[in-house]
Amino acid sequence: MRYMTMREPRMNNQKTIKEENIKTLFSLISSDPGVTRAQLGRITALSPTTVSTLVDELVQRGLVLETGPANTQSAGRKPIALQVNPRGRQLALFSLSRWGIRFWLYNLALEEVDTRFVEYSADRYGGFSEEADGTEPDAGADYMSLIESILVKSPYCDPARLLAVCICFPGIHLAREKSFSWSAMRVSFSESDVLQLERRLSVPVFLGNAALCRAYAEKKQLDGPNSRLEDLIYVTVRDGLGAGVIAGGAFLTGPENSAGEIGHVSVDYKGKRCACGQRGCVEQYVTLDALAERVRQVMNLGQAPTMAAIGEYCTKGNEAVCEVIDDAAAMLFTAIFSTVCITGIKRVVIGGGIEQLGEYFLGRLRAFPRDNPHNKLSQNIDISYARSGLYGDIRGIAQFYLDHVFTITMDSDEHWGQNGRRQITA
Ligand SMILES: [Zn+2]
Repeated sequence: MRYMTMREPRMNNQKTIKEENIKTLFSLISSDPGVTRAQLGRITALSPTTVSTLVDELVQRGLVLETGPANTQSAGRKPIALQVNPRGRQLALFSLSRWGIRFWLYNLALEEVDTRFVEYSADRYGGFSEEADGTEPDAGADYMSLIESILVKSPYCDPARLLAVCICFPGIHLAREKSFSWSAMRVSFSESDVLQLERRLSVPVFLGNAALCRAYAEKKQLDGPNSRLEDLIYVTVRDGLGAGVIAGGAFLTGPENSAGEIGHVSVDYKGKRCACGQRGCVEQYVTLDALAERVRQVMNLGQAPTMAAIGEYCTKGNEAVCEVIDDAAAMLFTAIFSTVCITGIKRVVIGGGIEQLGEYFLGRLRAFPRDNPHNKLSQNIDISYARSGLYGDIRGIAQFYLDHVFTITMDSDEHWGQNGRRQITA
């Protein structure tokens, strides 16, 4: 079991230099399908023999395919184009939310092979009333058992090719308590339940904070061929409110993984009591459920509207709904501005589902810095909606796993056989 941080392992001996080189080649082939050995040599400055030997090893391990002659202008023998072998491995990805578990199965080219949503309300653990004390009931093995049953039922999942089970959840890892706290839902689950799942499946389990996963997916979208995005605040508004912060190219986590919990910025110190003990935390007011409920009330609707429907009311100039959304934008901007003041980072991306409100809401958020041109701190704050999609957390944890956790020649030696199939031990 491992938890997401962005610190790469030290590379210092012969074996790990080999790993570093083969991983670089794998990543290049992965991001540029059709690349040739000669091109890889030019990009990496590795010798032709080294490139050839390592690429042969990638092919032999079932990770890379030779796909016939490449399209080149040069005369003579055509070089061979390379691509990642999509069927070489699989990644099982799970996203936990207040409403249930969403499952994806990706192949090695990060293409979707299977997906499913299993409804399982976190409300059943019951800490949502305002009077509830600050404790977080332990969900026990429930979530891990569900994950196992979803995986076993997937007709496309091949355990022998499964690289890892990745779980994103909107909470934090408490190393000292050996548990995962999901404070917005007032639920926790223990490390030992995760470890038991790992043993039952004989597959590594990797966990990540959903906001960090989303921030990583967004970074991958925004990275250019010759430029890397170094600083980003990704604000996710979903069942809770949090941020994934990338500062100087690394995740900002703090010593206890608690950085980015901006849902607990208070917008009213006399306001609603929050699970954290404070009052008026922005997460009490700005979540998808809270917004839908407020609009349902002002519009006297039988059912809570979708974010897209709320956005449409705003576009049509419905005053009551605009008032609710203006209020939400003011509260969210308060939390964003606090984060900008503390981190100095001005690139802000909003996602998690709230982006379905559309242009009206984004316009309101952008109005705050624009209407205060003399405030130096809010100048140049760049707020936009996420490009990495509604399920960017799934995308992000898969990309992060391949980029930073997956190794080809190191600890995988004991798990993977000659034919690239996992040796399953009981
Ligand atoms: Zn709070």
